[in-house]
This record gives sequence, C-alpha cells and structure tokens, in this order.
Amino acid sequence: MILQVALDTPLRRLFDYKAPEPGIGETAHAVDGLTAGPTATALTPGIRVRVPFGRRQLVGVLIGTVATSSVDPAKLKAALEILDEVPVFDPVTFDLLRWAADYYHHPIGEVIAAALPVSLRAGQAADDIVESWTLTAAGIQELEAPAARRAPQQRALLRWLAEHAGAGPTPIAPGVGPAAGPTTDDINAVFKPALLRTVATRGWVAACRVMPQATRFELRPSEVSLTDAQGQVVDAITTSLGRFAAHMLHGVTGSGKTEVYLRVIAAAIADGGQALVLVPEIALTPQLVERFRQRFSAGVAVLHSALTGSDRRDAWRAAHGGQARIVIGTRSAVFTSMPNLALIVVDEEHDASYKQHEGFRYSARDLAVWRAQRAQVPIVLGSATPSLETLENVAQARYSRLLLPQRPGAARAPRMSLIDMRKHASEQGLSQPAMQAIKQHLSAGGQVIVFLNRRGYAPSLFCNACGWVAPCAHCDARMTLHRRADELRCHHCGARGPVPLICGECGQPLNPVGQGTERVEETLTRLYPDAPLARLDRDTAAARGAMEAVLERVHSGEARILVGTQMLTKGHHFPDVTLVVILDADQGLFASDYRATERLAQTITQVAGRAGRAARAGEVLIQTAFPEHPLLTKLITEGYEGFAVGALAERREAEWPPYSRLAMLRAEAKDTARLDEFLRAAAHCGQRFAAPDVKVLGPAPALIARRADHFRAHLLIESATRAVLQRFLARWLPQVEALPGPPGLRWSIDVDPLEVD
Ligand code: ADP
Ligand code: ZN
Ligand code: ZN
Repeated sequence: MILQVALDTPLRRLFDYKAPEPGIGETAHAVDGLTAGPTATALTPGIRVRVPFGRRQLVGVLIGTVATSSVDPAKLKAALEILDEVPVFDPVTFDLLRWAADYYHHPIGEVIAAALPVSLRAGQAADDIVESWTLTAAGIQELEAPAARRAPQQRALLRWLAEHAGAGPTPIAPGVGPAAGPTTDDINAVFKPALLRTVATRGWVAACRVMPQATRFELRPSEVSLTDAQGQVVDAITTSLGRFAAHMLHGVTGSGKTEVYLRVIAAAIADGGQALVLVPEIALTPQLVERFRQRFSAGVAVLHSALTGSDRRDAWRAAHGGQARIVIGTRSAVFTSMPNLALIVVDEEHDASYKQHEGFRYSARDLAVWRAQRAQVPIVLGSATPSLETLENVAQARYSRLLLPQRPGAARAPRMSLIDMRKHASEQGLSQPAMQAIKQHLSAGGQVIVFLNRRGYAPSLFCNACGWVAPCAHCDARMTLHRRADELRCHHCGARGPVPLICGECGQPLNPVGQGTERVEETLTRLYPDAPLARLDRDTAAARGAMEAVLERVHSGEARILVGTQMLTKGHHFPDVTLVVILDADQGLFASDYRATERLAQTITQVAGRAGRAARAGEVLIQTAFPEHPLLTKLITEGYEGFAVGALAERREAEWPPYSRLAMLRAEAKDTARLDEFLRAAAHCGQRFAAPDVKVLGPAPALIARRADHFRAHLLIESATRAVLQRFLARWLPQVEALPGPPGLRWSIDVDPLEVD
C-alpha cells in the first residue's frame, strides 16, 4: 500500500511513501506515551504522517492510499510514523481544504499547512487528551512488598500515586478505564519524567486516556429586547437551522447586527452545536469579542494571527474537540476543524481582509459559503455595505435578504452633506465649513472623527523651483514624509531614508505637499488646542497594545478628536461621536481598478456610520472637488443601496464580476524585458486553447510597475463562468509552470482577484 501525502512545499503534487515499517511507529509511541499508540492499520485520509524528505523529516497529511506508485519502487521511502488514529480535520473541513487547493490552484501541502497551528505541523497531539495514571494490581503488590527491594524513588512514586488516586480529571468517554488518577503532567511536576516511564515499563502503573470535559456554558440574558426588525431577522435565521441557507443581513451601521448574531448563535449551539464567527480583524474589534464573552460564559475560543503558538494550539484543539462552542477568528479560522458546526457568521462580509493577498490567495468569505453548503448549515453574511457580489446573489435568489433598516431606540442615521472644495477656503486640507462644524460639535460636547486614508505627514516632498519630487530608489513611487520620525518612507517597499534639506536637482529648498494623518493632527492641535486628540493609523498602532490605548482614550471621553485612516471604519461603537469629517473623498473616484468605486462607497458609508450611534444626532461632512460626481450624489441622496443598484448596472454593462469571472497571473522579475517575454509566452500558450469563451488579456504593467527593484506585470484572464475559467486554468497552469523564465522570476495565480491593477 502506498501513502499519498500532502507536504508543506511549493510543489503542486502529493508525495508517495510506503507504509511505515511495522513496529517502528508503535515503539516510538510506547516509549513516549506509554499507552497504545496509533496502529499502522488505521490509515484514514486526514491523519498526519511523519516522513523523510531529503535530509529533513516533515509532518504531512495523508490524502489517500493507492496500490501502486509511479515512483521507482527502489526510490520509494517508507513513512516514519503515523501520528494520528483519527483525522485532524472534521470531514467537511478536510473536503474544504482539498476543494480550495483545487479552486485557487495552490499546492495542497501549503493549503493544509495554512490550516494547522505550527505545533500540530510539528507533530504535537491534535487533541488535548490527557493520560491519567493509577496503580495496577502488580503495582499495589509491589508497594506492599517489603521495602529495600527496589529503588526508593520508584516506590515513592507508587506511594504518591496511591495517595493521589482519584485526583485527576473524570473520564467521560466510554471504555477509558477505571477511576482516574493524576495526569502525566501532574506526576512529572513532582517526579523526574524518566521515573514514570520506568514504573510503567515494569507494569506497576497504567494509564487511561481522558478527554477534557466539554465546557458547560451558561447563556446570560441580553440586556435589550429585540426590535421588531431584529426579531424577524432572528426568526428567519433560526428557522433555517439544520440545513443550508445563505442569508445576507444588510443592517445599517449601528442597527444591532451583533445582537442578532448573539441570539441566533445561542439558538444554534443550544443542543451541543458549534458556531464559527469570522471577523475582519480581531484587534480592531475588541468590543465584539467582549460582548461574546459576556453573553456566553464559557466555550468562546478566539483565533487570530497575533496569538502565541500555544494559545493558538489550545484554541484549535478546543474547536476540534468540540469543547469550544463558539470560534471567533479572522480569515484563516474558516479552516478550523469544528465537528459539530451548526452556524457560520461572517461579519462585515464586504471587507477586503477576507481575501488573502499573498501566497495562498483565498477568499474566506467565499469558502465559508462553500463550507456552510457542504456542512448543511446556515450562514449569515452581515454588513452595512454588502459587497456587490453578495447583492447579486440576493438578486438571483441564491441568498435571502434580511434587513435592519434603522438603528434601535433613539439613534438615527446621520445627516450627510458634501463640501465643495473649489468654493471654500481651506487650511491644510480642512475647509472652512468643516472647521466651523468641528468647533460647534466640540462645544456642544460631542466627539469628532476626522478621516483621511493616508498616513504620514505629507505624501510628497516637492521642489517648487524645478518640480523634483523625492522618489523611492527602489520603486516607481514617491517617498512619504514622516515628520515625527524625521524620515522619508516608501509605503510600497518599506524603504527609509533621511529627509533631504534641498532639491536633489537644483539645490532649492523642498516643501511637503499634501496631507497625511500626521499633518492633519498637527493642524487640528493648532486649531483646537483645548481638544485632546487621538490618532489611529498603522504608525500609532504599531506597538503591541498601542491601538487599545488609543481606542480607550476615545471611549473614556478623554480624547475629543479622533484622526485616522481605514482602521477607523471597522465596527467601532463610539456613542459620543456626533461629527465625522471625511477629508478627501476623491482618491478612488477616478482610479483605474473596477472595484475602486465600490470600495470608496463602502468606506464613506462605514466611516459615516461612526456618527450619531446613540441618542445624539450625527452629522457627516464629505469634502470633495467633484460634488457633482454621480457616485457621491447617489450616496448622499439614495444611500448605499442606491449606489449599489447603479454600480451593478455598470458592472453588467462592462461585463465585470459578478457578471464574469476573473483570474490574474501576476509576475515579477528584475529584468523587465525578460519578464515581458515570459508573460507573452504564457499568454501565447493560453491563447492556443482559450477558445472564444476565455480571454487572455495583457501583459500589462502593474500600477506600481517597479517595486523593491522588481518589475511587475500581469495577465488578466476573463470568462463568463467559473466552470469555464476553472477548466482553462487547470489546462493552462501546468504549461506555464514548464515555461522558462528569467532568473529570480516569481509568479502567482489569483482566482477572483480583488484588485486588477
Ligand atoms: P451593528 O453591529 O449593526 O453595528 P450593534 O449590534 O453594535 O450594531 O448595536 C449598536 C448599539 O445598539 C449597541 O450599543 C447595542 O447594544 C444597541 N442595541 C442593539 N440592539 C438593540 C435593541 N434591540 N434595543 C436597544 N439597543 C440595542
Ligand atoms: Zn529643484
Ligand atoms: Zn519603495
């Protein structure tokens, strides 16, 4: 029998191994664990296997077994050890991983590695079953036998065990042995680990395996009673429990979506089920996690990238073992093994962070829908600004539409208006009407948010005399001035440099041009010296805990003005914010990317939604030089829904997704001519069988055509349907792989890309 194993390597294939030599695996286990280890007969796909790989040993996952291998039998190596008796993924998750590798055309080994915590990839146990020890009959006899016969230490251990019998966890699984004693860890905390091994080999003690107790969680009552709209939404979702249904929950910002999630999750997990909640960024939504912990006393596991290895492993094990009843996590949590999955919630489903932008480029939102369908459970896609794909799925009746059109209680949607920057004087990007409004709201006791999606002090350092702009030496991009750090930084490659005092071309003095958040902070501090200010962007939030500190200053009311970037848009609830000023709505109005307007409308709506979330009315001011632009006027008069209807019509007209399917082949190399040659050859071999239903467009240079000294360009592949696109990619990519390329060439395929420039 041949084992086909997925290994964490960039090769798009499985690796063949012979089954481990009989006895080897067992011996290894008998020495470590002393209990009956996995036997060589249980070769279920989804278990982990330790194998030799070159000079290294790797832990891989068994995908299947076959009778014969195409590898020369003389070269075929034997696996070293079988690590699990049962798969490390529930069956649906295991299917999901294989499907995702296929759909995104990414090596299965890397896909699986992305789904497992590091310690499991290193071979640690997949469950936190503990061994609980008791004396055997022989052990009791030994203990009662005349002293002096044996080593005193061993006898001490036996005596200790006798004294501590029954101290360990209670076994809950059937057939796992007699009344439990201390665990291996308990014993090893008192005695040298070798000692336990010795007395076990002598047969004086025996272990039984004990599962951790399933956590009994207690549902605390909600403080609010649902509004009628919330009640209807909760009913619609709970009636669909037990089967697949996709629900779009379109609730304006502050409409009480989180309260809905809490209620439907309580219903979904009441009979022992588990719920998976995906959120864009945990660090940005501490309030959400806190609300879950308050409502459900136990069994909430949180999974995100900032966890330490062992916390991540413990959370994963709790999910896999069923003790965690609710898993809240960022995109990779979609791959968490949850055998009793009963419901999936994707909060802020439109958020770009659900798409991984490098390596394995998957969309966690899309995979969550696939998983829900395969697991036959409902999924809730919540947002105040649903993505156009999701709205189209609603239009096609594939998803249901659930609405929360209003904020509960006294809170009302904020009043939005445009400020024409051509008509008003401004100071460092702040118009007169905005300055007046800030003053008014501050003196009325409100807090103010000023949004600008650009960090740093100024986006360029400019010479008035000759027009020179400080460039990045490694990119086709300008350096951003960071005044507090006193350096120039490239936001594309991370290069840093000193701030030049005079122009590199003509020697005249240089001026910072334009505004970033740092400069806006400076201006606001000067204009409103009595209003303490907090700034939230990647620079102020870089240090651990820094973001929490900034948010706390706003929540406590100490800070009166909050300046920030994109990070402000996500889910924050600041009851005292009454005014939101959006400084520069125009970035994005004329961008080449077909999704730019959708992103802009979402950002504006989300930022605007931070205003007036409690009793006080909110006001939103949007500064623009193009107040007659249809995107802005639609957004003001008809709201996000009005915008979306128009935007979908444009997409249909232009045959962009969701009315077509795209993939991007991105490539980069130092040699621009040979990069172009490679992409042309790739396009050419695609065109040979692309047929009329697949278009291969390009090569075209990337928006930043040179980054970190590499030239970047791409091909865009377009087709009317997923199926056709998938068939094409499956035939084409192996040929691209075989093409020669320049030294240092890197390329990748991105299925359903979020950005196409
Ligand atoms: P969303 O998730 O849609 O942005 P939240 O769930 O955070 O909205 O709710 C916004 C605010 O409204 C919160 O302070 C929440 O406690 C409150 N809220 C939610 N539902 C109700 C309700 N039925 N009655 C009163 N207040 C509510
Ligand atoms: Zn100059
Ligand atoms: Zn650069």
